Amino acid sequence: MAMTQHCSPLHQDRSVGLFERAKQVLPGGVSSPVRAFGAVGGSPPVITSASGARVTDVDGNEFLDFVGSWGPLILGHAHPEVTAAVAAAVSRGTTYGAPTPSEVELAERLTAIYPGLEKVRFTSSGTEAVMSAIRLARGVTNRDLIVKFAGCYHGHADHLLVSAGSGLVTFGQPSSAGVPAAFAEKTLVLDLDDEEAFDTLIDERGEEIAAVLIEPIPANNGLLVQHAEFLAKLKLRTAGVGALLIFDEVINGFRVARGGAAELFGITPDLATFGKVIGGGLPVGAFGGRAEYMDQLAPLGPVYQAGTLSGNPVAMTAGLSTLEILEREDAWTKLEQLGQALEERISPILEAAPFPARLVRVGSIFWMSLQEGEAPRRADAIEPGAAEIYQRIFHGLLLRGITIAPSAYEVGFLSLAHTAADLDLLAVALSETLNEFTD
Ligand SMILES: *Cc1c(COP(=O)(O)O)cnc(C)c1O
Repeated sequence: MAMTQHCSPLHQDRSVGLFERAKQVLPGGVSSPVRAFGAVGGSPPVITSASGARVTDVDGNEFLDFVGSWGPLILGHAHPEVTAAVAAAVSRGTTYGAPTPSEVELAERLTAIYPGLEKVRFTSSGTEAVMSAIRLARGVTNRDLIVKFAGCYHGHADHLLVSAGSGLVTFGQPSSAGVPAAFAEKTLVLDLDDEEAFDTLIDERGEEIAAVLIEPIPANNGLLVQHAEFLAKLKLRTAGVGALLIFDEVINGFRVARGGAAELFGITPDLATFGKVIGGGLPVGAFGGRAEYMDQLAPLGPVYQAGTLSGNPVAMTAGLSTLEILEREDAWTKLEQLGQALEERISPILEAAPFPARLVRVGSIFWMSLQEGEAPRRADAIEPGAAEIYQRIFHGLLLRGITIAPSAYEVGFLSLAHTAADLDLLAVALSETLNEFTD
């Protein structure tokens, strides 16, 4: 990649050495694919510590971080109160495989905050939460088909690694090797922001559908902000045919607003799934909804779901501590203000860029749309050409000590640890980077 560098190159000897070792024993050198920098090139910094809004790599480089471990770290890294609470919990034992007070307290807190949430079950990841919610919806409705939308990510369960087939309303096709076509056929894939296609599907097959699953603010393939009317339509029509509406709030939940996207849009789903923020940086997922549905889970009902480490006191404590701090700090107001401050600094820079660009933002989640016209609302409206420009922006910022997600399709996250001065640093680094485009 040809790039003029006005600042010294990164010293990455140790990171490069470790990543070479990693590749010998971990496929691609990573434990989750996007971390390998495949979409942007180069060798990823190998991180050894983090605090507040900053991460430090094995070469001693410090980066101002807008990845936030992909969403959980709404308070920033290693928040002292959270780490103290976790340390205290660890010293009392890390898992009991038995009921424990912190899971009750976290469940009480979640159900008090999130619209329509009466009962929850904890898991250890968002993937598990969504997978379990789908099983519950199928068990409750005694139907097999589920509907998802292209561009929404729901974790890596088999029946969700599915993309649209050809034609208007079609059965899904596996989007990963190893997913049987027979599983994918139970998943129907529609485009976001297309009320007509959704109406057609419900008219034709509504009575066979167990659940309609959506990220209310899709944030895993760009930030594809939906019209409230579209979500309202999903709610209305699922109710009409006895299908359940599932909001996948693994990213949105307890981040975009106190009560997640459900509160923001004023739409209460039948079931919701959570992860990321509710674990405060530890592995936690949850799903929940009306008691009448949730009581269909084992041990009360016929839908099986379980987990050895589910509800363990360390993870529950991290989540509880995080939510307590969010409430106390009036975090959602502050994060919106911080988001506005980001927009004020970044939008003018993007408008002046030598290519079309705009900032898309909902609260503390942001994304750069690098194409002409309105911000896209569906996956196929994103122009793939943007990836090349993004790659240059990414490396320009990295050289200047700032990390954003290593993929044009991933969003950025603000946390309570980011300051106005941090946003200034980003603005300066971004303008310098964009100036190089005309060199
Ligand atoms: C991250 C994410 C998941 C998967 O959660 P994991 O904890 O990575 O398994 C599911 N749904 C959405 C919307 C997510 O953002």
